Amino acid sequence: MEEIWGKFTNSALYADVIKNRLIHTVLLVGEDSFAVEKFSLNLVLTIMCEGEKKPCLNCTACKKVLHNNNVDVCCFPRDSKQMNVKEIEEFEDLVYSAPYEANQHVFVLKNANLIDKNTQNKLLKILEEPPANTYIILQASEEYNILPTIKSRARIVRVPKMDDNEIADVLKETINDNLAITTALSYSDSNCAKALRFATDENFLMLVHIMEDLCKNFNHSSQMLNYASKLYTFASHFDDILEIFLNIVERAIRYLSGSNSQDELAKAIVMQYSVNALIEFNRECLKFEERFKRNANANGLIDSFLFMILEVRHKWPITL
Ligand SMILES: [Zn+2]
Repeated sequence: MEEIWGKFTNSALYADVIKNRLIHTVLLVGEDSFAVEKFSLNLVLTIMCEGEKKPCLNCTACKKVLHNNNVDVCCFPRDSKQMNVKEIEEFEDLVYSAPYEANQHVFVLKNANLIDKNTQNKLLKILEEPPANTYIILQASEEYNILPTIKSRARIVRVPKMDDNEIADVLKETINDNLAITTALSYSDSNCAKALRFATDENFLMLVHIMEDLCKNFNHSSQMLNYASKLYTFASHFDDILEIFLNIVERAIRYLSGSNSQDELAKAIVMQYSVNALIEFNRECLKFEERFKRNANANGLIDSFLFMILEVRHKWPITL
């Protein structure tokens, strides 16, 4: 956690809180919900802290934020994934009431990009003129679904990615399985929320095992049935199959460019496939993603995915 903390205290956003010139609405954008959550927590602590060196993590206000019971910090949505009209109304009532203990009031609105347009318009009205000393922190995985009129009132901050060492520290706090941690890290593209999900999902780890074996050893149509039947179990997670495959392909491409010479799996893959084959896999996977989104028959997709691997392999053989 030290690192992301370091990133936050080095940010212009932090400097503005300290100098008391933060505008009332901040939009935190980042694909990694874990990183966004941490960044947001650091921001809330800094705003609420009563200590000298903010955030001190030691004053009453900081401790209450850390224990999730600071009455002047409210988080929405309460239970569901996205805020509905009723919650926006509740939010509105709270915004216009004075804080209980502190001089400032903080509201954290999660999944802002999932709020529907009507509800966003109601939200906009509140953002247009919030009371003094009120700070509204919107969290979003991307900003495309957020009304431009909301964005124009907010300070938009892109939350920096966590590095793999920081993510490994978080995983170690949750599970005690080094192999699962290493595997989750190598497939999560430095996304801590994803890594946490992978490391604790036995099905995902099993699928990784099958896909790595497939990439290393699948070279003849006689093996088709065997691999297909293993993958059918994961048909509803065809997107995971593609993601793992693409990740392996990308690692192999990086290996060829010399950037990860220690990667044993990548080393094994480049013995199997030519550069052209790896590049074509990338293109083909995009087509499969589209087909999966259009709800194509999942077992059928797995069959044609396996055919594609053999075809590309034969089209672009490795030249020794
Ligand atoms: Zn404090």
